[in-house]
Amino acid sequence: MEIPTFSDLKEEVIDAGLCTLCGGCTSFCRANKLNAIGMMNGLPNYINEENCLKCGICYMICPVTSELDEKLEEIYGKGIGKIIDVFSARSTDENVLKKCCDGGVATALLHYMLDTHFVDAVLAVKRMKGGRSMPILATSYNELLACAGSTLATIPSLDEIKYFSTYTSLLPELKEIGYGGIENIAITATPCQTKTIRKMQSAHILPSGVVKFIVGLFCIENFSFNTVTLRKFEEIIGGRINDIEKVNIKEKMNIIFKDGRRKDVLLDELKEVARKACIKCKIPFSNIYADVSLGGLGSEDGYTTVVIRTSKGKKIFDGALEEGFIEVHPEWNEEKKENVIEKIKEWTKKKEERK
Ligand SMILES: Cc1cc2nc3c(=O)[nH]c(=O)nc-3n(C[C@H](O)[C@H](O)[C@H](O)COP(=O)(O)OP(=O)(O)OC[C@H]3O[C@@H](n4cnc5c(N)ncnc54)[C@H](O)[C@@H]3O)c2cc1C
Repeated sequence: MEIPTFSDLKEEVIDAGLCTLCGGCTSFCRANKLNAIGMMNGLPNYINEENCLKCGICYMICPVTSELDEKLEEIYGKGIGKIIDVFSARSTDENVLKKCCDGGVATALLHYMLDTHFVDAVLAVKRMKGGRSMPILATSYNELLACAGSTLATIPSLDEIKYFSTYTSLLPELKEIGYGGIENIAITATPCQTKTIRKMQSAHILPSGVVKFIVGLFCIENFSFNTVTLRKFEEIIGGRINDIEKVNIKEKMNIIFKDGRRKDVLLDELKEVARKACIKCKIPFSNIYADVSLGGLGSEDGYTTVVIRTSKGKKIFDGALEEGFIEVHPEWNEEKKENVIEKIKEWTKKKEERK
């Protein structure tokens, strides 16, 4: 049987409008100095087709193809995934609470990991003007803080991994940009990005080895705006994107503008401006391949829902709790936990059934 290659990926995923823009295929190709494929007009494409080894790895690691799905299912389960525990929690840091999306647990856990040298750096995402976002390799509290809060645009963060892989061939590059010494990173990722990293890790593919911890975000849909969709989005939300102070996505999208106005928008209303690939995406909503997955769903405002999925996730959550980086909601109990799990089931099904 012939191995599916980038040509198949192009036909089945990219040209079919299903590419999640995770950046996995291009980052793998570049990390291995092949540079056969890269981003062209915002999508992966051949840039030096003659360099293509037809190895099929780009096809295998794509989160949309079903390659390696059985292997991942064995480790992480399917549907709502494997759950060790669920909490509603928040950061104890006032600076984080002012900027964060929900309860600032993502920033708090990442801060704890940096502080305890569990990781050397964090690949997170910073919101820029005009709805655009930028991947940031944060090594300090202030850099992390600058990333707190959610961003709306789709970020090919995986594409950035090339800059801090510790593999020997890339070390000179690391030194050049001043990030020498970085061996382990944590990453914040949407479900598609997480799935690609796990596929790469399960097949020992460069440059995924540097990723020691994944803080996964629940994700029902994502956006990458052009002039038309940005205008439409601004019409729907009744304001300018640059005037947004905060965005939360729970059962609705909750927007707080800088002037204090709040607008709640049904996710169905946003369907026409969401990325088409996100609407068709069948990767489980609650980020089942992460070490911990976080969302606003099921928590009251100001708190983050935390799903602990791996023993590493439990270790970091417990440590951050013990060291006072986070606190659990004072009224958290078994009944609330069950309710949250039911909501996660409900939204997992909604995403699966969406067309
Ligand atoms: C596109 C998107 C869709 C989401 N959809 C839902 C949903 O449907 N239901 C739900 O309950 N929750 C959803 N979430 C998660 C939710 O909005 C919060 O991010 C989550 O609850 C963590 O909140 P926090 O206050 O603990 O995080 P914070 O402490 O504010 O930190 C958030 C971290 O996430 C990183 N980040 C932000 N945007 C991205 C991105 N696009 N890709 C990778 N990393 C990013 C930031 O760099 C930061 O480090 C979504 C998030 C995103 C980015």
